[in-house]
Amino acid sequence: MCSMINLVDKLCKERTLSKSEFIDLINCDETTSEYLRSLAEKTRIENYGYDIYMRGLIEFTNYCKQDCYYCGIRKSNLSCPRYRLSFSDIMECCRDGYALGFRTFVLQGGEDPYFTDDRICEIIEAIKKTYPDCAVTLSLGEKSRESFKRYFECGADRYLLRHETANKAHYGKLHPEKQTLESRIECLKILKEIGYQVGCGFMVGSPFQGAECLADDLLFIKELNPQMVGIGPFIPHEQTPFKDYGAGTLELTLRMLSIVRLMLPKVLLPATTALATIDPRGREKGILAGANVVMPNLSPVSVRKKYQLYDNKVCTGEESAQCRNCLEKRIESVGCRLVVARGDSKNI
Ligand code: SAH
Repeated sequence: MCSMINLVDKLCKERTLSKSEFIDLINCDETTSEYLRSLAEKTRIENYGYDIYMRGLIEFTNYCKQDCYYCGIRKSNLSCPRYRLSFSDIMECCRDGYALGFRTFVLQGGEDPYFTDDRICEIIEAIKKTYPDCAVTLSLGEKSRESFKRYFECGADRYLLRHETANKAHYGKLHPEKQTLESRIECLKILKEIGYQVGCGFMVGSPFQGAECLADDLLFIKELNPQMVGIGPFIPHEQTPFKDYGAGTLELTLRMLSIVRLMLPKVLLPATTALATIDPRGREKGILAGANVVMPNLSPVSVRKKYQLYDNKVCTGEESAQCRNCLEKRIESVGCRLVVARGDSKNI
């Protein structure tokens, strides 16, 4: 047990560990886990104070040409009611969001061919023109270098593309053959080269994941050195091939958040909706474990239930204003404050 505490100290000092040391830390006991958490919280405070940034998530389409086995909006889910937001729907979400203090808009969706590069660029340009003080984050899946470049030139600031798992064999078990880890990683490298603030990330407790896969995720993240890392528990969706697998646990998700905070002290780390879904105080616990971002939904209430990546997703019935106020209270309950700011990463 003593040596485990030493591992946390080593991580704090050297900002990385060997693969076998990461595996030991991932499997650590509760005392070590609490020590890890307290240092991660301290590190968050040293780098970002008590500020928690908010991002307005606009889930603008649930059509998807990809077929990830874990995801509720995968192409093969024929019982998923599909929708697309119109240009004016999206602008309305931004208008409401801006009034509520959001200064980052995240456009997230399935890989929907209807949204050509021209259409995406039109949306980015309109948002940047109307709200020049806001950041635009894209989360549209894998695209060509040319597309990524065009979006950037139109004004997109950031791109979220979770790598999902950095272990090749594991990646193969979560995706059909034509979706590859190589291509996912290539996209992340291109995004960095172009100049985006980049976010990668992974699910905790996805089927067939072992501590070794998680250690590979950590080593990959250290090497990529992204500005953001999205980490949430896997949660089964009843209309996917993984419907009978268990969800990732709160404890392991929090532990992974803390390890990443210690590895990259200045990274932006969201307390995800998936974390809030597996525990009623999941977001608060995420913040106490080192997270410093929340990403509430700004999508119209009429479509929220249709963007169902996993079962029982929280906050699908509330208006944006309600979500914002509820989050503010939750954040204040753990001694932090929700801030009106773009909230750029200090990990540059
Ligand atoms: N199409 C975009 C956005 C994907 S949805 C893309 O490819 O990047 C955003 C994230 O939700 C995914 O990256 C995945 O990590 C997560 N997700 C999908 N299904 C999930 C599930 N069943 N449980 C938890 N998270 C899930």
